[in-house]
Amino acid sequence: MRVCRRVRGRRVVVVGAGFSGLACALALHAADVDVLLLDARDRVGGRTLSRPLPGGGWLDLGAQWIGPTQDRMYALVAAYGLTTFPSPAHGAATLLLDGRPADGEPAGLAGLLDTLDELAAGLDPAAPWRAPGAARWDRTTLGGWLAATAPDAVTARYAGRLLAGGLLAAAPDEVSLLHLLFYLRSGGGTRSLLGAAGGAQQDRIVGGPAALAQRMADALPPGRVRLGAAVDAIAQDRDGVRVRAGGETHRGDAAVVALAPALAGRIRYDPPLPALRDGLTQRMPMGVALKVHALYPEPFWRADGRSGVATTDTGPLTETVDNSLPGVPGGVLTGFSYGAQARSLRRLPAGARRAALRDALVALFGPAAARPDDLVEYDWSADPWTRGCFGGMLAPGSWCDYGPELRPPVGRVHWAGTETATRWTGYLEGAVTAGERAAAEVLATP
Ligand SMILES: Cc1cc2nc3c(=O)[nH]c(=O)nc-3n(C[C@H](O)[C@H](O)[C@H](O)COP(=O)(O)OP(=O)(O)OC[C@H]3O[C@@H](n4cnc5c(N)ncnc54)[C@H](O)[C@@H]3O)c2cc1C
Repeated sequence: MRVCRRVRGRRVVVVGAGFSGLACALALHAADVDVLLLDARDRVGGRTLSRPLPGGGWLDLGAQWIGPTQDRMYALVAAYGLTTFPSPAHGAATLLLDGRPADGEPAGLAGLLDTLDELAAGLDPAAPWRAPGAARWDRTTLGGWLAATAPDAVTARYAGRLLAGGLLAAAPDEVSLLHLLFYLRSGGGTRSLLGAAGGAQQDRIVGGPAALAQRMADALPPGRVRLGAAVDAIAQDRDGVRVRAGGETHRGDAAVVALAPALAGRIRYDPPLPALRDGLTQRMPMGVALKVHALYPEPFWRADGRSGVATTDTGPLTETVDNSLPGVPGGVLTGFSYGAQARSLRRLPAGARRAALRDALVALFGPAAARPDDLVEYDWSADPWTRGCFGGMLAPGSWCDYGPELRPPVGRVHWAGTETATRWTGYLEGAVTAGERAAAEVLATP
């Protein structure tokens, strides 16, 4: 086994070159720390991934949007010479309720969202377990709360799919009310999180966030980013840390683990992690989403005055958006399936899954949707270096006991990753601010 020693000055090993690890490494490098960034994959960017489109342009198979108040992301886009463009905003949205076209959102939805926003507003996103109602909300699932609060079953189902699905890629019974309230508080409320213009889905980055990740990595000194370096063990003692990746051991004064807790828990630590910290990693599963791009010769829905935005409480897809690129020929409808529906789709053989997806698009947009040139998807749950998306969430009943373990370092090992953010957790913005917070934490340690 080759041991790479610290050459001079302070050295920090950052594990994971997603946006969190990249932002952390850049902040440490800016403070003259000798930083080494390790990633298991042969690329940087983590949960962002682009694929070129045959006629020009690209598809974002992972994260794609940024929106107002995600200030670090806009700053990075500008700093690395990239630009953004707005999500298309013309035409009427499609709404299917109980299998039938509907004119407006279900009765009572706005009231439910207001109630959730009011509850969330009283919560400290850095310590949700301290809220007066925390223990009760922690053991209440969103599904249970909606069943008791929504005026009817359709509203409950629609709200459940939009909130648990659209925000957390989970089923309403997998999400505690406390976790949802934490998430709402962190992202500025339901309208901010669910909205396009003025909300989290407002803008896209030209070239995709993966292009930004590559530019961030390129800004680190040569040799400071190691790809194909899957970390399987981290040891620490009074002299420092030893991070093992493949056949190499990298020494440092501290390590930052910039991974979702579910993946951070798969690394072997010596000495072993404290019981509650390891317990946290056992209770923070990743969501399950299927994001599929349907490619058409043209955006046919626009000719009917439709926006390509659709939502529904039935069928395998919960929502779609128009992801066509300005100035690029062809139309792209992107559909999202979450939680139980996404799991059912994944169980199907590829041919049957594609048929189910085509049928779902026809139910929303009519026969013109039946023959896409291609359906492009990526299975983030099958990817061993992500294992699900959009992110990890604390299971019902877990926040109050295990939430306090999310951020505090364990000796010389610090924790980053979007799941540790208090603002825009689950998003690229949260990943960046969490990475920068962990860097500041390391720098503040004598
Ligand atoms: C389909 C999809 C759609 C999304 N949409 C949006 C969106 O529109 N807007 C938005 O803001 N966010 C969105 N997100 C969420 C966003 O992608 C994440 O919040 C963000 O990318 C997380 O960054 P991170 O650095 O915390 O983690 P990651 O991106 O997961 O980075 C962790 C890195 O660690 C590496 N790694 C894992 N294990 C090891 C190991 N043992 N050793 C070494 N390296 C390891 C991985 O390869 C990865 O590169 C979406 C995510 C998905 C998947």
